[in-house]
Amino acid sequence: MNAPFIPSVGEKVKAFLGREHKLLIGGQWIAAQAGKSFDTYDPGTGRVIARVAEGAAADIDRAVMAARAAFDGGAWGRITASDRGRMIWKLGDLIEQHGAELAELETLNNGKPLASAQRGDVPLSADMFRYMAGWATKITGETLDVSMPGSYHAFTVREPVGVVGQIIPWNAPLLMAAWKLAPALATGCTIVLKPAEQTPLSALRLGELIQEAGFPDGVVNIVTGFGPTAGAAIAAHPDIDKVAFTGSSDVGRIIVQAAAGNLKKVSLELGGKSPVIVFPDADMSVAVPGAAQAIFANSGQVCTAGSRLFAHKSIFDKMVEGVAAEAGKIRVGHGMQAGTQMGPVISKTQLERVTGYIEQGKAAGASVAAGGARIGNEGYFIAPTILTGTTADMSVVKEEIFGPVVCAMRFDDDDIERVARQANDTIFGLAGSVWTRELSTAHKMVRRIRAGRIGVNIHGSVDAALPTGGFKQSGWGRERGREGLNLYTEVKSVIMAL
Ligand code: ADP
Repeated sequence: MNAPFIPSVGEKVKAFLGREHKLLIGGQWIAAQAGKSFDTYDPGTGRVIARVAEGAAADIDRAVMAARAAFDGGAWGRITASDRGRMIWKLGDLIEQHGAELAELETLNNGKPLASAQRGDVPLSADMFRYMAGWATKITGETLDVSMPGSYHAFTVREPVGVVGQIIPWNAPLLMAAWKLAPALATGCTIVLKPAEQTPLSALRLGELIQEAGFPDGVVNIVTGFGPTAGAAIAAHPDIDKVAFTGSSDVGRIIVQAAAGNLKKVSLELGGKSPVIVFPDADMSVAVPGAAQAIFANSGQVCTAGSRLFAHKSIFDKMVEGVAAEAGKIRVGHGMQAGTQMGPVISKTQLERVTGYIEQGKAAGASVAAGGARIGNEGYFIAPTILTGTTADMSVVKEEIFGPVVCAMRFDDDDIERVARQANDTIFGLAGSVWTRELSTAHKMVRRIRAGRIGVNIHGSVDAALPTGGFKQSGWGRERGREGLNLYTEVKSVIMAL
């Protein structure tokens, strides 16, 4: 890395950063009731880039009241599904139109390479709204044959679950907001969204676009603030019907407990420790870059990251050498710097957490085959890291690191059950991938891996149509795709005696 890089951004982003950042409640931008605000940073420099309102329980209360009013007899309930779909589609268009600005904001606040934000986060967010816009008119129940046909008419309807609280993380702030908002809007819910305290900016800009798209006041409310205050108030709120959370498994457990008060519905997308399993017949020209991409994309800050690499003993060395070579080629730098392929991790806390794990791994006997340390002392950069000699009992193998660190392990025989057992030896079950040219190996592994998303010769995809979610301690429910809509509807069955 070169000397500290001071990013220059476009006029629109400059103007946005300079504005006062308030809370979106009931269609108005208002200050936090306690009058507080907090700094938000550029993780590429560690410098403050803006201040945003610090919402807390009182603000969540106001936001829930606005969402409740919009849901119960408000304008939202009188809008046809077709018009709802049209607004959601328009929001997708607006995201695309303002894509350059949103991408810069995302890079500044999250650190990811500008090209990733431009080619990934922004179009994927627009696409999620468009995908769900199409579903708005296709949410239907069924007619049912019940006993004594002709005597009864029975059917189901799917109704919106109501006021929804959504708590999202910082690793892909705009896309996480899109994944949460789009299905809730398509099904006719109203929402209180809390972005992560590290990355509030793109969600606030999205809030302005939501207003421009024409959604009635109170349908989407955005409250920036911290987890233990604003987030906890959402999870515990007695008038929220459902909470959807993406983040760490530890916080997921807290949410579940808080939600028990009014037994609100809960969906969770939590941690992972996803296996990348490479068989000896795999096409190495695909598997090597695939395994590198699986862990190093977004600096490893992806819940489905391929953080445990299992390679057959006959190709293990080749695999590790290959991934190490890929790691060495990755240009790590400020996200706004031309040519950057991997940005910083999100914060000083995260930097310390990830490097702490690397140290724990080394202390437990692991070797560093690539990277292994912080880069520079400005911003929070970590070299893409491969650990070898790791075993199932080490913290680096058991726990989610959420950084650019992969543990490479070999498997010794061709017993598929044993390979699957190794891959499944984790409390998580979010994703996994299998690399082989054997159809039968692929299918056998697909059925044996206990995880919500499996890739074959690809680690995964975040297409709007593809449901993702966790087995085991990786979560409850599936987001995206048709499945994702079910999180936001209640099924009502109706029987009529004729
Ligand atoms: P990380 O540890 O990677 O920051 P978290 O799971 O802590 O991830 O954060 C994800 C989201 O959960 C953020 O929006 C954060 O504010 C929120 N959050 C953190 N703690 C709580 C809590 N006790 N109750 C509700 N939300 C929380």
